[in-house]
Amino acid sequence: MEDTIFNENRKLKRQLDNLLRRARTNEQKQELFDSFGFEVISANTPAQLRDYVLFQMQARFQLHDVVMTLIDFDRDAEKLFYGHDTDAKSLYESKLLILDTEKDQQQISEMSIYPVLGPDVLTRFDWMLAGIDDIDSCKSAALLPLMRNNKLIGTLLLLSRDVNRYQTGIATTFLQKLSAMTAVAIENCLNQQRIKEIGYQDPLTQAYNRRYFDLRFNDEIERSLRQGDNLACMFLDVDFFKKVNDTYGHHIGDLVLTQLVNLIKEQVRACDVVARYGGEEFAVVLPGVTLELATEIAERLRKAVQSDKRLTCGQGGLNVTISIGLEILSSLNDKNLSTKEIGDQLLQHADEALYKAKTSGRNQVVVYVEEKI
Ligand code: GH3
Ligand code: MG
Ligand code: MG
Repeated sequence: MEDTIFNENRKLKRQLDNLLRRARTNEQKQELFDSFGFEVISANTPAQLRDYVLFQMQARFQLHDVVMTLIDFDRDAEKLFYGHDTDAKSLYESKLLILDTEKDQQQISEMSIYPVLGPDVLTRFDWMLAGIDDIDSCKSAALLPLMRNNKLIGTLLLLSRDVNRYQTGIATTFLQKLSAMTAVAIENCLNQQRIKEIGYQDPLTQAYNRRYFDLRFNDEIERSLRQGDNLACMFLDVDFFKKVNDTYGHHIGDLVLTQLVNLIKEQVRACDVVARYGGEEFAVVLPGVTLELATEIAERLRKAVQSDKRLTCGQGGLNVTISIGLEILSSLNDKNLSTKEIGDQLLQHADEALYKAKTSGRNQVVVYVEEKI
């Protein structure tokens, strides 16, 4: 009898110990998830967010890897996440999959609004794993939906080497809380970045404004100096623009500026910076471009403006042309100048070259040449 009670007691004690241990682990787990969740929520920029979710989460939760997919409803996710940072893009690209609502319809339709757990995830969603290293040692996975206002905005895929870590039927409260917090953080960061970008944009032409240009110009010069690359700086101005306004009205003047920016953007690459520097004056920075190539691009642009149907109405009508001044970084290389001084000189030289283009007939490209006294 005593024995039975003793055994019963021991069994109960063991169960109690187990429950306590589980409660303690749960408490620790909750703490870990909560503190990480709060960090993710506190991210201020998409850049910070991608670091938290795609790298720190992996380390903190001892995961094999983490992959995030995002449905790009506004077609701006790539720009918001990477901006002009091509290094970041190549680093994150395989872990942050940005899905196009049209081209990637098939993949989007396969995504679930409920968590999916277990080793099957690895085969069912293998397209998410295309860029992940050593995928064979990954044995289980949790695919968590990222939801905002009952709408699926993406997924978070947690990959583990432990086959038992993510199994169908296990409680997903912590995981769901984490993915809910991540979804809020994504929306918040992307919206903040959108607001920031609006502050960097000229509302009329959608070119960058001068504030952004000054920031970016400095960055691009520093990067070029570090990498030993060249960089071209182009200043361009509409010829007799006052006459366009006076003859056709301000509204047509505005359309000319908008169309001009469209044409500039068509001629340059996405990594080039096109900014409205003043009223009808634009600055363009072309990183990694030599003088020969810059002259070719400028000449192509000048011709494109001259022959654009929306800017030219034939005889006696609208006949918009532009003048362009050019300077390149390598011509200032041996002058031992600071980044700021280099930037100032590049702009000043491009502006002087533009002035020359204006005074020697307009509708032409002029490269800066130092006057030797
Ligand atoms: P030049 O060939 O020497 O450059 O002659 P210009 O007439 O183009 O130069 P000027 O600097 O005399 O005139 C620039 C005009 O650009 C004057 C200004 O009213 C007009 N402008 C500046 N910003 C805007 C704008 O946002 N919209 C319109 N429609 N006009 C603008
Ligand atoms: Mg002008
Ligand atoms: Mg002007």
